[in-house]
Amino acid sequence: MFTSGATESINLVIQGSNKIDNTSKIKPRIGVLSVEHKAVLDTCYALAKKGLAEIINLQVDSKGRLDTNHLEKVCASGLSLLCVMAANNEIGNIYPIQEVGKIAQKYKIPFLCDASQAVGKISINFEEWGITYLAISAHKLYGPKGSGALVVRKGYHLNPILFGGGHQKGQRSGTLNVPGIVGLGEACRLRLLEMEKDENAIALLRDKLQGLLLDKIPGLTVNGDINSRLSGNLHISIPDVPNSAIIARVRHQLAISTGAACSSGVETPSHVLTAMGLPQEVIEGALRIGIGKFTTLQEIEQAASILTEAVSLTRKALYSSYRIE
Ligand code: PLP
Repeated sequence: MFTSGATESINLVIQGSNKIDNTSKIKPRIGVLSVEHKAVLDTCYALAKKGLAEIINLQVDSKGRLDTNHLEKVCASGLSLLCVMAANNEIGNIYPIQEVGKIAQKYKIPFLCDASQAVGKISINFEEWGITYLAISAHKLYGPKGSGALVVRKGYHLNPILFGGGHQKGQRSGTLNVPGIVGLGEACRLRLLEMEKDENAIALLRDKLQGLLLDKIPGLTVNGDINSRLSGNLHISIPDVPNSAIIARVRHQLAISTGAACSSGVETPSHVLTAMGLPQEVIEGALRIGIGKFTTLQEIEQAASILTEAVSLTRKALYSSYRIE
């Protein structure tokens, strides 16, 4: 089904797949990975706030990894929906979706996989991996903004959250965004052709940047699961240097963020890093750098020197102000 993006696809599943009505005596239980995007978390919590669902948090470790033994225990206790993302938008972790799908199938639990960050970057086998609902966002795979899709396994029905002309088998009313859909389709076609080559090249650039930064910035740490992460993701912390100070220095030269780039105007600490239980100074010194298919080696080297210089100037300023005090 075509939607306006992953947020809508996710809402459609969480609000539309459960038998949500306040006459039901048994509340739907939704199992949610604690580092999910806010589109998942806030939709779940909005239902919980109205007393329409119970949310069971699936914890992660300090590298943001999911404990599949814990997941299995939670599934065994009974869930009406399981939400586990394919890849995280902040730390870039790739989650073991095939294994999660197997567990979900074993306990007959519908499984929503938010694959916004993964589709077009890693292979996902919807048919064979036991995924019930797959949320996709076009602009994450070089497609147009405001377009997305929800892939629904045969035999599963969703109650609509938008009512009207009964488009898309009555599940999502509203005139379809044809240019957006064509753009999504073309982006998918191109990713199929280019993904493997692009992602290998992007990983090399990311590793180059990571190496330069580790070399030149004492105390820098890399966050997330470096053994299973998206090629284009680099998430670092410089624990004694507030990220806001670095961003203020580099923002005219480098597009860099402290956390989720798609949460507008949010200044609160990252819920992802908080769920990982990282120390406050690591959270406050966190920076997320995205690398894409159009990034060049020259830009990587430039980015490394801009960041190194910004950290060194910020450290000087911080330490000299301590001395005055
Ligand atoms: N899920 C993840 C993991 C994301 O990174 C985003 C970011 O935009 C979304 C969901 C929301 O997608 P959209 O902007 O298409 O609604």
